[in-house]
Amino acid sequence: MDKLYSNATIRKIKEEHNFRLSKSLGQNFLTDGNIVAKIVDSCEATEEDLVIEIGPGIGVLTAEAAEQAGKVVAVEIDKNLIPILKETLADYPNVTVVNQDILKTDVVKLIEEHGQINGKAPKGVKVIGNLPYYITTPIIMKLLEDHIPCDSITIMMQKEVAERIEAGPGSKTYGALSVAVQYYCEVEYVTTVPKEVFHPRPKVDSAVLRLDLRKEKPVDLIDEELFFQVIKGGFGQRRKTLHNALTGVHGLSKDQIAEVLAAADIAPNRRAETLSIEEFARIANIIAGE
Ligand code: SAM
Repeated sequence: MDKLYSNATIRKIKEEHNFRLSKSLGQNFLTDGNIVAKIVDSCEATEEDLVIEIGPGIGVLTAEAAEQAGKVVAVEIDKNLIPILKETLADYPNVTVVNQDILKTDVVKLIEEHGQINGKAPKGVKVIGNLPYYITTPIIMKLLEDHIPCDSITIMMQKEVAERIEAGPGSKTYGALSVAVQYYCEVEYVTTVPKEVFHPRPKVDSAVLRLDLRKEKPVDLIDEELFFQVIKGGFGQRRKTLHNALTGVHGLSKDQIAEVLAAADIAPNRRAETLSIEEFARIANIIAGE
């Protein structure tokens, strides 16, 4: 058989299985072995680790991950890909494919049910994936908010989303997503991926990020939910000053927000896009303490 990551193989699989690529499921398959290796190598899985893959497609990343990790559990929503994966991954007994929607999957349970390596719990858990672009943000936020027991998430996404995630204060692309992801993870930009290495070609370039889950959060919070409310409120109306944008958050009046900002030593005419995570935390903790 040709290499799995090639246009020829994809064409052959389409023909033999009467398989049609689904645009609405974000099916842009990788055709470049270097990128496949780069993503899997970046996650640094060992024989004692479990890899959870989101959206295996025809299994290019899955096969590569199965060579390195003790076990791979791949979650694929498209039932038409299941018989194909059975064939393409036949040589890898350490792979389990589940036909599920990742957004509806209890990942903690998935790890308990399928994650054992030689009857033992895995040493580490790494998530990988070439994500369907239409739900990149919901997938990332679900994994983080569900507090799944994993060490890192190495994923490919639209380049523009990767730039938003890694942006810092003062940057145009800095927003609620940057703060939320950076609160949970250390973000590393692994590589840019040109659109030419996909079948079919998407309209935009992609990028791979590695998100390392923090053992300790970068700020101490009295109320995590309130912190996220402040971030949402602040960025919800980007053009407004903090004083105006935060009015109404946690039911606070304009005067009360003025008092909170004064206590936090943050000028009321600043905008959310200039605030560091630490400054958002200061505001949230003052509101929580009142
Ligand atoms: N990993 C393959 C590759 O790199 O060639 C395929 C990547 S393709 C961009 C995204 C994959 O995610 C597709 O196989 C698609 O069917 C699957 N997918 C889309 N939505 C999903 C969901 N909600 N849950 C699980 N898989 C999903």
